[in-house]
Amino acid sequence: MATLGIPANTIAVLQKYNFTFQKKFGQNFLIDTHVLDRIISAAEITKEDCVIEIGPGIGTMTQYLAENAREVIAVEIDKALIPILQDTLSSYDNVTVINEDILKVDIQKLAEEHNGGKPIKVVANLPYYITTPIIMGLFESHVPLASITIMVQKEVADRMQVGPGTKDYGALSLAVQYYAKPEIVANVPPNCFIPRPNVGSAVIRLTRYQNPPVQVADEKFMFALIRASFNQRRKTLVNGLSNATNISVGKEQVKKVLADMGLSETIRGEALTLEQFADLADRLSGKK
Ligand code: SAM
Repeated sequence: MATLGIPANTIAVLQKYNFTFQKKFGQNFLIDTHVLDRIISAAEITKEDCVIEIGPGIGTMTQYLAENAREVIAVEIDKALIPILQDTLSSYDNVTVINEDILKVDIQKLAEEHNGGKPIKVVANLPYYITTPIIMGLFESHVPLASITIMVQKEVADRMQVGPGTKDYGALSLAVQYYAKPEIVANVPPNCFIPRPNVGSAVIRLTRYQNPPVQVADEKFMFALIRASFNQRRKTLVNGLSNATNISVGKEQVKKVLADMGLSETIRGEALTLEQFADLADRLSGKK
């Protein structure tokens, strides 16, 4: 099978199968071999690796992954793509295609079955509509994970890297930075895809930390606080946390803890660093 990263070959496959793009699945297929090479090198794929690819499309990146990894598991939601993938990947015996919604797949079980529970690598040109649940799901479920190398909307990649005091700072920034080291490895313009998306994209590598950069007694409670703070972004932390339905902390309690931390009682969540959220969680849960 010809290399699909070359636009003429992608178009030939799409025509052969009379494929119609489904907007609801965020289908923008890569047609740039340089970008594909960059993703594979950034993900540092070796013949030892078991890779999960989310949304293989017609199998463009899957071919590159199959050449470089020991084993590839590709999870694709669109059943119209399955016969195409059988065709484009027919010369590889190290690829398993699963026709399923990635949000419903038990990735832990896949890692157990295909990699003996050792850390897997996730590589994807993500459907942008589910970027955040995919990333949060992978981290919070504690799937054994070495790294995630993904193409996302440029703006989302920026959000993963920023700290307090910027408008893009939010729950996603804090989750990513608690679990992994984020590095943007390429900026990718719309003309590298068919059809062209309306926004710029970026490839970001998230390398999982062995140990998070901050210590917190109750990780789940810290993320409940973070979510509550950013759900009500314009409110002060005192009001945001005491109004939240998923945590039970009182106004006076939050005020006291903020004073103990040397912070103003009118501070907003968006001004707190990860270290401060960890400290706040430990104090509010009585672990400090
Ligand atoms: N990897 C291909 C490429 O780079 O050319 C396709 C990338 S395209 C941006 C996203 C792919 O994810 C599509 O093939 C789409 O059908 C698939 N997809 C969308 N939602 C999905 C989901 N919930 N689970 C699995 N795959 C999904």
